[in-house]
Amino acid sequence: MTDLADFTARLTALTGGRASTPRLKDGVMTIALDVGGLPLDKRDGLAAAIREGALTVTGVTDVRIAMTAERKAEEAAPLKAPLRILAVASGKGGVGKSTLSANLAVALHRLGLKVGLVDADIYGPSQARLMGSEDQKPQARDKKLIPVTGTLGIPMLSMAHLVEPGKALAWRGPMVGNALTQLIDAEWSDTELLVVDMPPGTGDIQLTMVQKHKPVGALIVSTPQDLALIDATRAVSLFHQAGVPMIGLVENMAGYACPHCGELSDPFGHGGAESKAGDLSMPFLGRIPLAIDIRQRSDAGDPPAAGEGVHADAFHAVARKVADWLKASA
Ligand code: ADP
Repeated sequence: MTDLADFTARLTALTGGRASTPRLKDGVMTIALDVGGLPLDKRDGLAAAIREGALTVTGVTDVRIAMTAERKAEEAAPLKAPLRILAVASGKGGVGKSTLSANLAVALHRLGLKVGLVDADIYGPSQARLMGSEDQKPQARDKKLIPVTGTLGIPMLSMAHLVEPGKALAWRGPMVGNALTQLIDAEWSDTELLVVDMPPGTGDIQLTMVQKHKPVGALIVSTPQDLALIDATRAVSLFHQAGVPMIGLVENMAGYACPHCGELSDPFGHGGAESKAGDLSMPFLGRIPLAIDIRQRSDAGDPPAAGEGVHADAFHAVARKVADWLKASA
C-alpha cells in the first residue's frame, strides 16, 4: 500500500505536471488530467497508469479521472507551414532576373501556391514597379514589416518601398544584410513560399543571404550569350558552396520575333543556356523570348504572366516545373 503524499509526488512525475492534486472522499479518488496536445493512445495509457497507481493508495476503492484539454492559445493554434524561400539569381545584372522573379511569383500564385515576393536586389530594386505597388508604404507591427500588395494581391516587400525613389543607397555590407533580414523576417502571415529576387553577382551579400536565410532551392537566369553564361556558372557555384539545391536554369531574352515582319532572330545567340545547364548537370527550365511586349507590360506594372498568350505561357511553363520541384522536395 502507498500513502497519499507519496502517490501525489509520483503523480506529478508520471504526468509531467498535467494532473491536479488528488482528492480522496469516501474511498473515491478524483484527479483532473490535462490531456491537451496528447495523442489519444497516450491519453489512455496515462489514465490507465494513474488508475493503477491510485488503487494502491490506502483507502482507495475507486478512481475517477476527469480529462480536460486546457491547451494554451499558442498550442491550440493550427501549425503554420514553414516559410520556404526560393532564390532567383543571376551572375550579372540586366539579364531579366527581376522580370522572371515577378512573373514566376505571379504564375505560381495562379497555380494556387501562397506566394510572397521579396526584392533583395537592394541596390537596384525594381519589383515595386514590376508589380504595380510603387505608391504603397509598408506598415510595421511588433517591429516587423507588414508586406504591401502587388499584382493579383501578392504580398511583397522591396527596398523601393522603404527608400525614396531615385535616392542612391550608399550602404555597407552589414547594413544591407540587416535590411534584407527585415524584408525576409517580415509578417508574411499564411504565405508558404517567398520568391526572392537576389542581388546580381556573387559577392559577400549574396553568400550571407543564402547562408543565413537558407533557400530551399535556387533558380538561375541567364541570357544565351557566353559572357552571361560564364557569370551564371559563378552564381551556381555560390549556391553549391552554401549547400543550396539547384532547381534549374532559365534562358531569358531567347529568340526575337520582329513585330513588323515576324522574322525570328537570335541577338544573344541560341540554346547557350540549355547546353550550359547540361554541362553543369542541372535541369533546363525553359526559354523566355525577347519581346517588346514583355518589357512594356513589365514597365507598366502588369506582369505578362498575369494575362494570357504566348509570353504568359512561357512563364507558366517554367512555373509548373518549379512547382513540381517544390512538391518533390517538400
Ligand atoms: P535584372 O533583374 O537581371 O537586372 P531586369 O529584369 O530588370 O533584369 O530586366 C532588364 C531589362 O530588360 C528591363 O527593362 C526588362 O523589362 C527587360 N527585359 C527582361 N526580360 C525581357 C524579355 N524577355 N524581353 C524583353 N525585355 C526584357
